[in-house]
Amino acid sequence: MKLERCEREQEVVDALRSGRWGTAWGEELRRHAETCTPCAEVVFVTREFRREEELTQRQNPPRMASAGLIWWKAQRAARRAAEERAAEPIQFVQRAAFALLALAMLGLGAMQWPSIAGWIRSASEFGNLPSLGVTPAILLAATAAVFLSLMALAAYVGWRED
Ligand SMILES: [Zn+2]
Repeated sequence: MKLERCEREQEVVDALRSGRWGTAWGEELRRHAETCTPCAEVVFVTREFRREEELTQRQNPPRMASAGLIWWKAQRAARRAAEERAAEPIQFVQRAAFALLALAMLGLGAMQWPSIAGWIRSASEFGNLPSLGVTPAILLAATAAVFLSLMALAAYVGWRED
């Protein structure tokens, strides 16, 4: 099938889109389209396309909104991913600082342990500390062990959740 063309096709489309088609200004063009096959086809296609457009908008008004929403969500996700990438070095430094702090506390506790134990021993010897039937040093060691275990657990959980 030979595809016929007419130089007034675009004029027809413009007239239909602007609404000029139905007015007195479109009369000459309407008459031309009645005798011109390509222009008659353009009129038909443009009208069909427009009808389809209107139908889509009327039947499914949230469609455009949801497309916009999807776009917005995608943009937001991309932005968040970029932010997370930017925050990665900060998170690493935070973790390292946390690990170093835990190690420092452990080291400090180990270094200071003899004096702490000595202080407890002397305090109990002078009767300042109530005797519970358990050596205070063991009691303190148990407390320290529990505390350090909790610290390690907190560090582990903090490490995993980030
Ligand atoms: Zn024509």
